[in-house]
Amino acid sequence: MNCKIGIRGLSNGEHPFSFKVDGSFFEAYESDTVSDADLDVNALITKENGRMTLDLGITGEVTVKCDRCLADLRIPLDVQMPFQVMFSSYADEAEEGASDEVILLDNSSSEIDLSQIIYDYVNLGLPIKKVHPEGECDPEMMERLKDILK
Ligand SMILES: [Zn+2]
Repeated sequence: MNCKIGIRGLSNGEHPFSFKVDGSFFEAYESDTVSDADLDVNALITKENGRMTLDLGITGEVTVKCDRCLADLRIPLDVQMPFQVMFSSYADEAEEGASDEVILLDNSSSEIDLSQIIYDYVNLGLPIKKVHPEGECDPEMMERLKDILK
């Protein structure tokens, strides 16, 4: 799945990019947490006076296993993160104490690969306890688990 944004030769101003991320993305990472996904990724590159920022938005749903009944559980996600984009030779100029995360690129980079960032932030966006609301667990799965645990 292509999660790359070409940044070479971008003019000053705002440049929106968007693409979809589905289950195959997480398969490629051999994720044992996320089994399926339907996510919209929106990246807004803003270039201004040699500075570049990236506002990343990840919205949609991912499917994970419920911790209690092990059936599929769909979790809505809405992650918004601002990043500073820096090239390694200028990395020292990263603003001290800036709250934005930094995406560091080689000087020769002509694109930003968002794959790892998307993967990390989806996982960070998941709740620690992944369970269906009380009473909504799959009753069949619960029965079967009860048998196994006997
Ligand atoms: Zn459940």
